[in-house]
Amino acid sequence: MARIGFIGLGIMGKPMAKRLLQAGYEVVCYDIDPEPVRELVAAGASEGRSSKDVAGRSDVVITMLPNSPNVEQAVLGQDGVLAGAGAGTILVDMSSIDPTITKSIAARLAEKGIVMLDAPVSGGEPRAVDGTLSIMVGGPQEAFDLVRDILLTMGASAVLVGETGSGNVAKLANQIMVGLNIAAMSEAMVLAAKSGVDPERVYRAIRGGLAGSAVLDAKIPMILQGDFKPGFRIELHIKDLANALAAAHDVGAPLPLTSQVMEIMHALKAQGKARDDHGGIVQFYEGLAGVKVRKA
Ligand code: NAD
Repeated sequence: MARIGFIGLGIMGKPMAKRLLQAGYEVVCYDIDPEPVRELVAAGASEGRSSKDVAGRSDVVITMLPNSPNVEQAVLGQDGVLAGAGAGTILVDMSSIDPTITKSIAARLAEKGIVMLDAPVSGGEPRAVDGTLSIMVGGPQEAFDLVRDILLTMGASAVLVGETGSGNVAKLANQIMVGLNIAAMSEAMVLAAKSGVDPERVYRAIRGGLAGSAVLDAKIPMILQGDFKPGFRIELHIKDLANALAAAHDVGAPLPLTSQVMEIMHALKAQGKARDDHGGIVQFYEGLAGVKVRKA
């Protein structure tokens, strides 16, 4: 069984690494925050002193970090994966980052015989805990075949989308759909609430029809409780939409609706809500209409 290194034990990384331990993998882990490392060690993992140390003790290294600069630091930095990994190591970056940066990191690693897959995920914390994430992968088929079982310990599906960077392009598409969906249902539910119609009953009435969605089922129950504890923080969604806009403009694909939702998220950030769950987008519309979408 492959020895797995895990770097980045936040909201997502911690439960994902626990799934690997539960499946019987040997896991060595590292995070700049010592707290989650202690928790993983208590669950049976070994402690890495740095990303370099983790890479030197692993066949497959997984990174689950916030954004491109964090991945660049953990992989290419002085004490990074590149400095510690031997030829033949596979790096699986499961963070959601800019696909252009993925390609440049992969090229640096290739010089030392290290293969990189980008394998961002969708599903959020509950699915990370259950091991039912959707995993979208970019990179060479042979490397994908070698880590497929490891990915399926954390996910219900792992699809090779295309060459290096394609996983992150798929993730950007996913994030556009999720962000716009939350904005659309927020706009609609504020209409219901302002009209004096119980939003929970509206939800129950429409969820089986064409407007029903995984996003609706995940976010409406939280919104009805006024519960905006993350989950997926607005500041991380801003990061994804910034990457989406940059990548789209690079290839000449305008994103008019994404730009509008981006500004809504920035308005919420300016009001101190950057660390709220992205279901908190509803608060922007609630502010416009002077009404709250809550359980009656
Ligand atoms: P998080 O901020 O909770 O966790 C990130 C972890 O990385 C933290 O523990 C931090 O200390 C650590 N870290 C940062 N820089 C580091 C470095 N250089 N070396 C070692 N550790 C470092 O973020 P998260 O919610 O777990 O998200 C991780 C990635 O997954 C992001 O790209 C995010 O967009 C994506 N994602 C998140 C969700 C979600 O619902 N939270 C869902 C799908 C995808």
